[in-house]
Amino acid sequence: MTDAPPTVRPTDVSHADQPDGGVPTELLNLPWIDGHNHAHTLSWSDREQYALAGCRAMVMVASGYHWTPYRPVRASDVRFLWDDAFNRRLAIQREHGFEAALGIGIHTGVRVENPGDLLDAMAAYCRRDEVVAIGETGVTPTQHVSAWDLDEQRAVVGAQMELAATEDLPVILHTPNQASAADRPYRAGTGTPGYEKNADLGTDPVIDADNPALEAVKVDVQAARDAGLPEDQLVASHADQNNLEYVMEETDCYASFTIGQSWFSAITAEVVADAIDEYGPERIMIDTDAANVIRSDVNSVKRAIIDLYKFGIDVDAIRRVVLANPRTVYGIGD
Ligand SMILES: [Zn+2]
Repeated sequence: MTDAPPTVRPTDVSHADQPDGGVPTELLNLPWIDGHNHAHTLSWSDREQYALAGCRAMVMVASGYHWTPYRPVRASDVRFLWDDAFNRRLAIQREHGFEAALGIGIHTGVRVENPGDLLDAMAAYCRRDEVVAIGETGVTPTQHVSAWDLDEQRAVVGAQMELAATEDLPVILHTPNQASAADRPYRAGTGTPGYEKNADLGTDPVIDADNPALEAVKVDVQAARDAGLPEDQLVASHADQNNLEYVMEETDCYASFTIGQSWFSAITAEVVADAIDEYGPERIMIDTDAANVIRSDVNSVKRAIIDLYKFGIDVDAIRRVVLANPRTVYGIGD
């Protein structure tokens, strides 16, 4: 273009020699995989949004005390969660087009009375093609309503690690992360706005350590080592500043940043970009963990694809984080 722009007076177009750092079009169409969500608890419209935003595949995690009404939980309650996800998965996949795979596990957020019954039943579920991961699980420092002794939690987590090793499945860890502190306390009885959970019913911690959330991750990794589960079969979901250095420097596990609740966890694309700069993209993922009990953004991975580029991450690294890594670990989204 040689002619001056036809505008009445100079506009930004007159300075078109500035660097073009614009988002590459290929990122708009880059498929992505959400390796940890609870999309089967969301609305039809939420699931449609995953499809519209280019989600190729997801792991719908069918574990979690949020969806079992009784305290403490019994094995049959958790079986209901697994079976509910099994029941609905095909229809979800057929309706929306993305591959919907399952993770089944025993969450430790509330004590399960007879976990042995679940462990006995789990192998048969794990041999089904639609089950691509065990989890989410991993010891947690505190429970809801009914505390679970650390040694008992460790045994349940360890048994799931052994099963994962036997069945050659990855394990999604619920690594405890810290909610970002509000500048002032909420009104008594309010809990955490945005999280439909009666926070007043939390139990006293069962992990006695300076840093219980990090200690929990270390216990989980040791359980995997004891079970003979390769560390590259472990995904530390809810990676954060408290556990990232340990996960990346002292293990071969993947770190998955849960980005669907940034308001709660302070995990943003900027945090992920910093992690990629520091450690490379080879063992980093992003997940939404979107669920019906918490204010969640099902577009967060898609938005992060764009934001990571703006933060200087190159296209190949972004593709690795949102597509290649979860594809390798979970074997979905080809
Ligand atoms: Zn989750």
